[in-house]
Formats: sequence, structure tokens, C-alpha cells
Amino acid sequence: MRPRTSGAALIALTLLLTSGTAAYAAPGHPTDGPSRAAERLARQTLPADDGWAAEGPGTTGGAAAGPDQVHLVRSRADLVRALGGDNATNRTNATPKVIVVDGVVDGFEADDGSLRSCADLADPEYSLPAYLAAYDPAVWGMVPPTGALEAARVRSVANQTKQTQINVGPNTTIVGLRGATLTGLTLMLDGASNSIVRNLTFDDARDCFPAWSPTDGATGNWNSQYDQVSVRRSEHVWVDHNTFTDGDNPDSGQPVHFGRPYQVHDGSLDITHTASLVTASYNRFVGRDKLMLIGSSNTVGPDVGRLKVTVHHNLFDRVLQRLPRVRFGQVDVYNNWYRLAGDGFEYAVGVGVQSAAYVENNYFTLGVGIASGDLLYDWGGTAVTTRGNWVRADGALPRPVDLVAAYNATHDPDLAADAGWTPTLRAQPASPAPLVPLVVGGLAGAGRLPL
Ligand code: CA
Ligand code: CA
Repeated sequence: MRPRTSGAALIALTLLLTSGTAAYAAPGHPTDGPSRAAERLARQTLPADDGWAAEGPGTTGGAAAGPDQVHLVRSRADLVRALGGDNATNRTNATPKVIVVDGVVDGFEADDGSLRSCADLADPEYSLPAYLAAYDPAVWGMVPPTGALEAARVRSVANQTKQTQINVGPNTTIVGLRGATLTGLTLMLDGASNSIVRNLTFDDARDCFPAWSPTDGATGNWNSQYDQVSVRRSEHVWVDHNTFTDGDNPDSGQPVHFGRPYQVHDGSLDITHTASLVTASYNRFVGRDKLMLIGSSNTVGPDVGRLKVTVHHNLFDRVLQRLPRVRFGQVDVYNNWYRLAGDGFEYAVGVGVQSAAYVENNYFTLGVGIASGDLLYDWGGTAVTTRGNWVRADGALPRPVDLVAAYNATHDPDLAADAGWTPTLRAQPASPAPLVPLVVGGLAGAGRLPL
């Protein structure tokens, strides 16, 4: 039996962690490596039973790293070197390694430390004005772009991918020192089983070359390619105590083209392409649109029996959709705090094809215009389990709400109320929902682990 943390102990821990007295690596390190405290954090493993990533052998990341595989990184070039030396092949580097990030690492950094621009990455034959002129629905119609200019955009995307998509291999832990930020980059965990990502701020993973998708939705959409963290074809991944933002480049600042917002951002933490056994805990997602896509295709194929994810003690703060959106997987969503604003909000939990979400003891703070019946969305699923969730609607007292009943009262067809499974992998029993804002508000996000 594991020790259980009482509510009072959690509050005490909150005060301890937010009191600002924790030490971290001193400036001007005497050596080239991280401090002992940072290395200790970087060698931590996922606690027993802590969500789907704890199944079977659990998740240890780079804990077994030898002394020569403990890296302190301060630049994109450092990060690529620590991951194995060549971004094109690092995804196959399974050597256990722990990587400690200090300061801001920018995905647009060249090896000499200068910053590359979108213009530097563009194919010579691509320009946005030319793209807008060529594929304006008034000229081109509502069919997908094809031809030389679209091909030049695709080549530009390939250039950017080499620059800003950082490929991670198996048996890797990446942790941040206080203030560590990965900006303008995608951490790609494709085939990166047994990996851990903690205590980092992910900022503005922007796409220089969004695609116009005229058949996406009734009026078309601009779509971006780059998530902040992508997990694909991997098992046993723990994403913990990170902060995800668009920084000073919010969607609200983007222009409108073809009557639709020019979307330069994609997901925060997308788990797709047969990935499974992932735990996302104590993360803070702030002011973003699309957050967590679990399964990217409705095709009944290799994702069946995969996409098992636990989502607990995260703060969803003024974010709009996919909190998460689930296909196929058994997904445990418990003790999260949803602090939702009315402006642009779409839904919280997406119930997709053959999904089995178990939504327990979450707390929803709703802005003006959001109703309890708006928190689920039917993306082609049939059932979802919801228990012990509380809602505080704008101007009202908090109260327990049956999310499925609230959804069914205002939508057809109805969703069934039993997703057909009960989670067993939890490090401690779910707290009652009314305690969730205090615990999650104090503990979720980067900068709150003792260092
Ligand atoms: Ca994505
Ligand atoms: Ca109904």
C-alpha cells in the first residue's frame, strides 16, 4: 500500500512549494553539468500506479543514464547534441539520458546562436501574398490548394520541420530549471518510449506556413502543423508539471484571411498514431485553442486498444477545446480544474469514435455564456462515464453536476453514461472535486517542483 497524501498535507505542500524558498542551480555553474538537486529531479521516475504510464514496467525515462549522459543545455544546438547529436537520427538514440534545460531554448536558433526567421525558412517560390492571391476561394473555389505554390508551401514546411521539430529518442528525461522555456519548437516524441518531460514552459510553437483547408468545417480553416509536444508510436510517457502557452503571440493577434483566423498554432500535447500508456499530470495550459488530441483518425485500425492516457491535476485555464478530445482510448480524466472563459470556448471533453473516457471529480469554473451541457461534445462516440464533477457557473454557487445528463438535456443523440471500464492506475484516490482548485491552482505548472 502506498502512503496517501491527505488534503491538509497537500495544502502544506502547496505553501512550501510556492513560498519561493526552494534553491535551484546557481548562476555561473562551477562545472558544465547541472547541480546535484537538478540531477536528482532529472533522475526521478514516475511513481507507482500513477496513471496509465505506470502500467507494467512503469516509466523511468533516462534514470539509468551514465555520468556521461547527464546534460545541461542552454541552446537548441546543446539540446540536439544531448539528444544524440543529429536531429535527423536522434529519434533512434535509445541511450538513457537526462537533460536539464537552463534558460530559453529557441527552436529558430541556428547553430551559431543567431535566430532564423520565417523568411529564412521559406522556399524561394513561396510567399504568403502569392498564396493568398492564388487560393482565395473567390478565385480558386472551395477545393484544396494544389499546384506549384502549394508545393512550395509544403517544401517550406519541410524546411521548418528540420529547424523547429526537435526529435527525441527512447529512455530520455528532459527537465527544466526554474524559468526554463522551450519556445518556437515542437518536442517530437515519435518512437520515444519510456520518456519523461517535466518542469518546462512550452511557448509559441508557431507554424510559419499554415495550410488553407477549405473543406475543414463549413467555411474552411487555416491549420498549423506544429504541436508543442507530440507523442506518437510511443509507450510509457510522463508529461508532468509543464506550462503550455502561446506567450506574446496569441491567436487573438493573428490576422483573418479568407474570413477565417490565420491559425499558426496546433495542439499542446497531442497523443496520436498508436501511442499509449501516457500520464499527463500537473500541467498548466493557458490561453490556447487546441490542447490535447488523443487519436487523430477515425479509421478503425491500429489505434484500437491503444491511446490509453491518464489526465490528472491539470489546470485548463481559458482554453477552448480538446481538453482532451478522445478517440478509441480508455482515458482517465480526474481531478482537473477547468477555468473556462466564455469567449471562443467550444467544449471540454470530446467523445470520439470508440472512445472510453472516464471523467471523475473534476471542477469546472464557467465564464459567462458557458452551460454545463456544453462541457461534453459528441465527435462520433457513444458513451462516457462522468462522476463526482462539480460546476461553478458564472454568478452561481458551486454544485455537483451530472455532465452526461446535462449534455443529453440539450443535445441529440444522447450519450450513454457508462464507458465500460473503471480506472485502477491512480497513485492516490481522487480528491473530492471541491478541493481541486486549491490543489491544482497551487501545484500545477512549471516552476513548482522543488529544485
Ligand atoms: Ca497536432
Ligand atoms: Ca437529448
